Amino acid sequence: MRVFVTGGAGFIGSHLVDALMGKGYVVTVYDNLSSGRMDFIEHHIGKKNFSFIEADLLDQKKLRECLEGYDVVFHLAANPDVRLGVEKPDVAKQDIIATYNLLDVMRLKNVKRIVFSSSSTVYGEAPLMPLPEDYGPLLPISVYGAAKLASEGLVSSFCHTFDMQAWIFRFANVVGLRCTHGVIFDFINKLRKNPKELEILGDGRQRKSYLYVSDCVDGMLFGFENAKDQINLFNLGSDGATEVNRIAEMVVDEMKLGDVRFKYTGGKRGWKGDVPRFQFDISKIKKLGWKPQYNSDEAVRKAIRDLLQEEI
Ligand code: NAD
Repeated sequence: MRVFVTGGAGFIGSHLVDALMGKGYVVTVYDNLSSGRMDFIEHHIGKKNFSFIEADLLDQKKLRECLEGYDVVFHLAANPDVRLGVEKPDVAKQDIIATYNLLDVMRLKNVKRIVFSSSSTVYGEAPLMPLPEDYGPLLPISVYGAAKLASEGLVSSFCHTFDMQAWIFRFANVVGLRCTHGVIFDFINKLRKNPKELEILGDGRQRKSYLYVSDCVDGMLFGFENAKDQINLFNLGSDGATEVNRIAEMVVDEMKLGDVRFKYTGGKRGWKGDVPRFQFDISKIKKLGWKPQYNSDEAVRKAIRDLLQEEI
C-alpha cells in the first residue's frame, strides 16, 4: 500500500509513520516542518520505501506534483496549538485552506481515501457527558475547533460529491514521547526553570481525557482497517479523565521535587476557547473491536516519564 502522510514529521504523525513503516507500506511524508522535526523521522531516511517532502499544503502546485498514485492519505498537518487561536485566529483559516487544497488535489489525482485527524474541540462546551459522535449541534468555542469542524465538513462533502471514502477521528488530548506542546510539556518546562513554583492556567480543576500516543495510532489504524462505511466517524479517547491539579501533582512527583507552590491564574478555563471539562463516549470504536491500552491517568503518567527521559 502507498500512503501519503501530511504532518508526518509531527508528534502524532511521526508515530503513525513508524507504525506504517512497520507494516511494510510505502510511505511519503509531506510536512513544512513548522512544528514538526526532522529528528522524529530521520531513522527512516534512506530506506527504500520512505520519502520525505518538505513543503506546505498551502502550495497547491507542489502538492499536485507530489500526490500521484497513492492508495490513501493520512491528513494530520495542522497547527495544533488551540491557545494560539486567541492571538492569531488566521492559523485556523490556513488549516481550512490546507485541507481544501489537499482534498482538491486528491480529486484531481483520483486518490479516493482520506483519514483525517479531528478533535474533541468540535463539540465546544457541550452539556452532555460522555459525548457520543452523534451529539449536536456542534458549536466549537475555539477557532481551532471551528477549523476542525469546517475541515470535517469539507471531507464529508468531497466524499459525497466525488465518491471518496473517509475515516474521521476526533482525538482526545494525545500525550507521549515527542510531544511538543500541551499541559504536561508546559509543566515540565516551567518546573525546570523554577522548581519552587508552578503556574497553573485557570483554577486547576479542568478535567479532560488523555490518550497515549501509541493508542491513538493503533486506534486510527484499527478504525481505518475495519470500518467500511463511506464516512467513518469515531471519537478516539481513553477511559476516564484527569484533572489538571492531578497532572501537576504527578509531574512534581515524577520530577522528585518537594515543596512546590501552585500558583493559579484563576477562572474555570486555562484560556479563551479552553473547554474545562470533557469526556468522550468511545463505545462506537469499542463496538468495532478496539480498546485503548491505557486509561487517562495511566496515559498522563507514562507521558510524563517519556518527556522527562527525552531532551525537550
Ligand atoms: P504537530 O504540530 O506535532 O504535528 C503537525 C504537523 O503538521 C507538524 O509536523 C507541522 O510541521 C505540519 N504542518 C502544519 N501545517 C502544515 C502545512 N500547512 N503544510 C505542511 N505541513 C504542515 O501536532 P500533533 O499534536 O502531532 O497533531 C497532529 C494532528 O492531530 C493535528 O491535525 C492536530 O490538530 C490533531 N490533534 C492533535 C491533538 C493532540 O492532543 N496532540 C488532539 C486532537 C487533534
